[in-house]
Amino acid sequence: MRKQLLQTALFVVLIGLATEARAQNNEYHSGMKWPEPAIVTPGVTNADPPSDAIVLFDGKDLSAWENGEQWIVKDGVATVKDTNIRTKQKFGDCQLHVEWSAPVPAKGKSQWRGNSGIFLMEVYEIQVLDSYESKTYFDGQAGSLYKQVPPMVNAMRPPGEWNGYDIIWNAPRFQENGELKKPAYVTVIHNGVLIQNHYELKGPTRYDVPPKYVRHEAKLPIVLQNHGNPVRYRNIWLREIKPIVGEQAEPPYLHSHVTGKDTPVKE
Ligand code: MG
Repeated sequence: MRKQLLQTALFVVLIGLATEARAQNNEYHSGMKWPEPAIVTPGVTNADPPSDAIVLFDGKDLSAWENGEQWIVKDGVATVKDTNIRTKQKFGDCQLHVEWSAPVPAKGKSQWRGNSGIFLMEVYEIQVLDSYESKTYFDGQAGSLYKQVPPMVNAMRPPGEWNGYDIIWNAPRFQENGELKKPAYVTVIHNGVLIQNHYELKGPTRYDVPPKYVRHEAKLPIVLQNHGNPVRYRNIWLREIKPIVGEQAEPPYLHSHVTGKDTPVKE
């Protein structure tokens, strides 16, 4: 009886192995013809601009920004003063790196404590605020999409220390007639911590108007906000996102390494 059981168990194991071997005899081919991915040399650290980045502030000057001359640039750092600044160049989908630091000593409360902001396409704000042990309404704290959604967690460093935002921006798309075709999506990593995960924006992030999309250009400037607080910025760069595009050269198929035959994949 026992011998019989062992034989059965062995048989089951062998059948399993044979099935797995058979499965590996087939190889899936998508039929897609892809261009070779471009080579990008990464920065020394992940905070440094890769070789294909557009550097918007490298610590020297704000010449990439309209009104940049009105902010204070000293010791590699730009400090907010008097006015918003906006990039001279316009951008759509992008990967944006920004480092910022809340003022020291910390002054003011709630929305008046180290407030600034990064506006993608001029109207979609990712909040910059001193949210280290300082309360405000949650959808107005650092890393919120202002008035739409709070960050999933609060990953703030104390005032004076540097915070990093890595932002993946997917611009909204509009129909010819002005209707929304596809909303904007944003992912934000704050100091290495995911705080926005492909969030679908409801429209512009206004203080006084409910969010509602209004058709705009495919590319628009990035704006850094003056909210009357001397927030500091450094190391700002972005990469324009260009999806890799392939062509369906042939229908997908399975290639058998046993028979050498190709079998079309049924839809
Ligand atoms: Mg703000």
